[in-house]
Amino acid sequence: MKRKALIAANWKMNKDINESLIFINRLSDKEIDYNKVDVLIAPPFTSLYCISCEIKKKLPNLLLSAQNIYFEKEGAFTGEISAKMVGSTGATFTILGHSERRQYFKEDDEIINKKIKAALDFNLNIILCIGENIFEREADVATEVVLSQLGRSLKDINNDFINNIVIAYEPVWAIGTGKTASSEDANDMHSKIRGKIKDLYNYDVAENIKILYGGSVKPENIKELMNKEHIDGALVGGASLDVEKFYKIISFYNQ
Ligand code: PEP
Repeated sequence: MKRKALIAANWKMNKDINESLIFINRLSDKEIDYNKVDVLIAPPFTSLYCISCEIKKKLPNLLLSAQNIYFEKEGAFTGEISAKMVGSTGATFTILGHSERRQYFKEDDEIINKKIKAALDFNLNIILCIGENIFEREADVATEVVLSQLGRSLKDINNDFINNIVIAYEPVWAIGTGKTASSEDANDMHSKIRGKIKDLYNYDVAENIKILYGGSVKPENIKELMNKEHIDGALVGGASLDVEKFYKIISFYNQ
């Protein structure tokens, strides 16, 4: 049986508090069948608390996520935000390991592993992003790269905690470029990721873990991607900024 889908919006560094609330209010006017799909919003840190207050009243099923955390619990780390702080806003998830964090902020698998542990210590669920860049794909090492990122990021994370983690396969060359992996290629990589999860944990964990696809997902390609066996939802960047486009993506599950 297929796992329940998750459609997640990564707003990146977009939308101030006012714009965030306008989006949430527009989304709350729409019909979403939460029996078929979970929906998550990852706004900038500054909007977490106000969205959290708003959705308690208007969209109690909506999941709320940070886009990142720092791995230390507290202290002299100017500009950083801890897992505890994120939890105190009412958010229950954080994205970790996004390719933009890896590329612009030099985060590697070791740092991401520390962040995963810090998030789990404060009961945050995680969307762990992994994916190869264009050079790795062209050199035909995409599978090795992706599975190595997965194994290293999950180092010492045991069976008790793996259920709190969702994986997002995001080929870097498809993020924000308008290029999408073909649904066959994406499904194939998802199946390899699931196989590695089975090796690291067990069959049940592998069958239950959600693996999202990310990379230029839009209303036009959602159906094709989501009909594949191993694709359990999407992490959506650009198309999640527009409430109508984002709702069209979610509406695939209203049918
Ligand atoms: C992302 O930021 O995770 C992403 C997939 O972006 P986009 O949908 O714009 O490619």
